[in-house]
Order: sequence, then structure tokens, then C-alpha cells
Amino acid sequence: MNNGLSLAGETICLQLPGMNQIKGAFHFFGTRHGIGAERLLVRLRLEGQVIQVKQVHGDGILKIATDIPDPPTEADALMTDTPHRLLVVSTADCVPVLIHDPITGAVAAIHSGWRGTLLNIAGKVVREMALQYGTDPQSLYVAIGPSAGACCYEVGEEVWEAFEKRYPETRRLRGTTTHLNLTDWNRRHLVEAGVPHHRIFTSGFCTLCRPDLFYSYRRDCKPGQPITPRGKQQMESGVMKCP
Ligand SMILES: [Zn+2]
Repeated sequence: MNNGLSLAGETICLQLPGMNQIKGAFHFFGTRHGIGAERLLVRLRLEGQVIQVKQVHGDGILKIATDIPDPPTEADALMTDTPHRLLVVSTADCVPVLIHDPITGAVAAIHSGWRGTLLNIAGKVVREMALQYGTDPQSLYVAIGPSAGACCYEVGEEVWEAFEKRYPETRRLRGTTTHLNLTDWNRRHLVEAGVPHHRIFTSGFCTLCRPDLFYSYRRDCKPGQPITPRGKQQMESGVMKCP
């Protein structure tokens, strides 16, 4: 079950109830009807500065103290313990992962596609939060948002082999086909990094299965066509420390 915020009959964002019950942070996962992080803050009368940088499908982690560094840095994970900094990532099939440490107040937002997942970006963020903020992984709460689900996300042999090479225990789902479950991989990396299983919440939504709610790069962008025929067809998700 998802809590959501609606506007004119459309769901503009989702919030996971498990994550929402933990005080000290605000989080949301955008939908295709989203109004953007800036306008969402205004609408909710929340004080905040949107922080978003260029994503490059890597495992770079950017620590935000007050503002975006100048010149802006490329990164696929943002973290901060400064209040009122809304850390935002954009996705359309890749996995948005939002982290909150209610003890130190630190938060993190991760963009984890197959490349980031292969690089264990989620586990690296947990370890970096421990180094930078003294976070105990056991105290973290994590929300994993809508992404391409194992139902639909079939990858090529080269991607599959990259996973098998790095994680020899990789099991093929659906017989001989190569359907990756990115949500499960991220969950697994978080658990390996020390986050308790029961503190990791997932949306349960597949972006390809729900065109009514989500953009999907794979479904909506055909080869040879412009990637963004109608503008920026990505969804913004974010997390912010709110004292
Ligand atoms: Zn699906």
C-alpha cells in the first residue's frame, strides 16, 4: 500500500507508509504526473532547497554541506546531514533509493540503474554515511521506489554475464531468460551493508507495467527516436532532513 499525494485527480507522488512513520525526514517518489521537486515543496509549504546533479550511471557519492558545489559535480548518490536540503534523483526504470538515519538525521538519495547496482552503489552509500556522519547501518530506514520490475526487465547476455561474474551466486529467473530484479539486488546490498531487512520498504511498482503512473525509458523510448520526445520524461524522487 502506498500513500500518495494527488492533484486534480492525478497521483503526483508516492510516499511509503513505513518510511513516513519515521519522524525527521520527508520523502517522495515522483510519478509521470509529478509537478517537480521545487513546486512540490511550495505546494506542501515545506522549506527546502532542491539539490540535484548530473547522473552518469556510476557509483560516485556527493556529500552536500550547504549548496551544490561549483562547478556542479556528477554523481549518482547524494547525502547530507544539513536540514532543508532536498536531495533529488531522476529515474525512469532505474531504481530510486532513499535513505534516512533518524539518529544522526543524515539522509541520502541514490540513482541505481543496472550499472550502479552492479557497482553496489547502495552498499557504498551506507558505508560512506558511517564514515561521514557516524551512521550505524542498523539504525537506517530505506525506501526503494518504482523501477523496472523483474516481470519486465530482461537484459542482454553481456549485462547478465557482468552480474554473474561479479556475483557468482546469481540465479536466473524465469528459466533460461535473463530478467534482472534490480530492487532485490539493491535490497541485498543494503542488508549486506548492515541495514536490517525489516527497515527496507519497497513500493512494489514496476514502471513498465504501469504506464498510467510512471514513465519508462524502455517502454516509451524506441530505438532511433529522440530519448525525450516530449521533454524530460523522467520522474523526480527525493528525501530531506526536517528538524
Ligand atoms: Zn513489469
